[in-house]
Amino acid sequence: MVSCRPPWPILLCVEHRTAREHVVRMCRTMLERGYLKATEGNVSVRVAGHRLYAVTPSNYDYARMRAEDVCLMDFDARHVTGESDGTDVTGGADLAGEGRLAPSVEAGMHAGIYRERPDVHAIVHTHQPYASALAFLRRPIPALTDEQARFLGRRVAIVDYAPSGTGFLARNVRRAVAGGDNAFILANHGVVALGTDPDRAVFTMALLEKVSLAYLLALTTESGKVHTVPAAIREIALTKLRADQKRIAAQVTQGLPPVRVAATEPLPSADAVAVAAATVAEEPAGEGGAGDEDARLAHAISAYPDVDDVMRRLRALLRQPVRGLRHDAMLDVLQYFETRCRSSREIAERARRRIPGGVQHNLAFNYPFPLAIDKAAGAHLVDRDGNVYLDFLQAGGPTILGSNYAPVREQVEAVVRESGPVTGLFHEYELKLAEAIHRHVPHVEQYRSLGSGTEAVMAAVRGARAFTGRKMVIKVGGAYHGWSDTMVYGLRVPGSFRMNAKGIPFGATSRTREAFPHDLGRLRRKLVENRALGGTAAVVVEPLGPESGTRPVPFGFNAAVRALCDEFGALLVFDEVVTGFRVGMGGASGYFGVTPDLTVFGKAVSGGYPMAGGVGGRADVMAVFGSGLDGRSGAHVQVGGTLSANPLSCAAGYFAIEEMARTGAPVIAGRAGDRLARGLQRILDGYGLPYVAWNTGSIVHLECSGVMLLDMHHPVQLMRENKARKQLMERMGAAYAAHGIITLAGSRLYTSMADTDAVIDDALVRFDQVLSQVEGV
Ligand code: PLP
Repeated sequence: MVSCRPPWPILLCVEHRTAREHVVRMCRTMLERGYLKATEGNVSVRVAGHRLYAVTPSNYDYARMRAEDVCLMDFDARHVTGESDGTDVTGGADLAGEGRLAPSVEAGMHAGIYRERPDVHAIVHTHQPYASALAFLRRPIPALTDEQARFLGRRVAIVDYAPSGTGFLARNVRRAVAGGDNAFILANHGVVALGTDPDRAVFTMALLEKVSLAYLLALTTESGKVHTVPAAIREIALTKLRADQKRIAAQVTQGLPPVRVAATEPLPSADAVAVAAATVAEEPAGEGGAGDEDARLAHAISAYPDVDDVMRRLRALLRQPVRGLRHDAMLDVLQYFETRCRSSREIAERARRRIPGGVQHNLAFNYPFPLAIDKAAGAHLVDRDGNVYLDFLQAGGPTILGSNYAPVREQVEAVVRESGPVTGLFHEYELKLAEAIHRHVPHVEQYRSLGSGTEAVMAAVRGARAFTGRKMVIKVGGAYHGWSDTMVYGLRVPGSFRMNAKGIPFGATSRTREAFPHDLGRLRRKLVENRALGGTAAVVVEPLGPESGTRPVPFGFNAAVRALCDEFGALLVFDEVVTGFRVGMGGASGYFGVTPDLTVFGKAVSGGYPMAGGVGGRADVMAVFGSGLDGRSGAHVQVGGTLSANPLSCAAGYFAIEEMARTGAPVIAGRAGDRLARGLQRILDGYGLPYVAWNTGSIVHLECSGVMLLDMHHPVQLMRENKARKQLMERMGAAYAAHGIITLAGSRLYTSMADTDAVIDDALVRFDQVLSQVEGV
């Protein structure tokens, strides 16, 4: 194994090691099968994700070759180990001290092939006797069998003679491989065999030798007449070969990202922000400067993502075929669940009898079966079998302080000890919560506590209709605003209207419209159309974009929607169920500097405790929610609930909000999100994977399949690929879990204040283990 010592960055070590070990393994296999003798020939393997390849050293005994002897070259055939010319082809790695042997004299030929053929990941050049005989005869091999056409190409051509190790030979070979065939005979100089992976290259070479022998025997018979396979059969085989090549080439050319995060770049540090915030928190009032204040109360998003770039990469991901774990790696994942999660499985089997679908929560991890969690603390979860996981679900978003945060729990316990969880009468914490929200989100002049985000969205819609006297509601396609009758419309898939509205009568959605994500023109048209239908009461948006910004909004989108609402007299409703306090204490409205009329809260508004939901906003609009004495006039809408605004939930929300402000939790969690997203990007760069990672503070996206980006603009692709892409996401989620990481459905990760740099670095090592097992890496 290659010694991987500093200053080599760990990821580059892993990639080089993989490619170099492949070279060693290929040589061993060929030696064992008698294809390579002494130094006959040379072998190379592409370094996934880089314009680099590993090649055998010149004049070397392959029987004793170790991975560290294998040379690392760039695509201009420059030896990047040892005497590199300083060009940063390695993402900033210092490569001194490894692979000092001189590379094969045919390194230039290998480089030319990799440049010409993105589908080629491994090359074998040997001096096989039977193929050599044909080289001496200058006899190309026609398509003799369908297997030959399927793997070697239309025919095995003879490449014009040029002396070995020269640029002439490299150029002749490069021209020949451009046609797409995989095996060539070099005039008086052996063979070149290409493969989409190391095993395939060795197979190509072995098949070529087998075909060469058969062809020679046929040529030496008396008749000398050789019959080929029918042209139609040859073409069918070729079509399959070309499809393989196109698929692999697309993975390389479309998916090959530039190196976005250099191997040497230091990652953002949540620990550093935590220290700065703690220093401010401990200072007596008045001593902290404005800069210090930033450390606690700044926005959690340090840099807004380049939306065009993210969308371009997501579209590129969607153009590619699905790419998941290798079959053997996926079997290991299932084996983990089978052997290490027996108690969870036993509970899941029992649950199937008493709970529809076997699990109550939509976000519970379902594949291959839900894990039963016994303990939650900070950044970690422990399942019934004692397995420990890094928790990036964080209950679906509410626990910005980390799971089961003791200072809040202790205060909540004290309140419950005194007043019990509910009395049905007024409790001061109802007021304290409303005051705390107003302090941090000043445009929430009044606040009404409800039971969940779903209820709060229902209330906002009803309140907007009552206030404006209009009926129509517009949402953004693909967004989830809870499961109320009105809002299960255009759910998950933009443009899908009532596709998910099973059990909901037409009348319930007849006044709902969806606008395509981020399409302001379409939104304006809907507002115009709605005029004829009595006008728009509310436009409801998730300010980061549908599904917590899975399709991120362009930065100016919310301000433009605000202007449209003003123009058409509609209320602007921000659904801040996820973003409230997560994007910063002022929520997304504070971050974007856009003031909605109503804001929906959920999740963090109860600090991770039950009954998380409420609606707040302008006092004149909020007046429609008047209850108690105010509600007697009969002019008010009906909202509420027996357990709404109970002391437990309100105290939990109040203490959590105060604690988040005191500690700077949203900013710390945001920086942890930065560290995680940058680290993930570095891993993706390293392996040349087309997956897309980005974050808005503590909301981190890792798209492996792009399923969330499918929409009714491309209905055929949606129909054809939805299932496979969803399955891939689910499987990647299971693979992350088997490596000790819980995500939201395998594609989203919420960070919390508990995510120290050490936690994130631990996660990155685990992600690396999973991503190194993706097909083609
Ligand atoms: N709105 C958004 C943006 C959400 O993400 C969710 C839930 O995930 C809801 C509303 C519904 O909230 P709840 O699950 O509390 O009903």
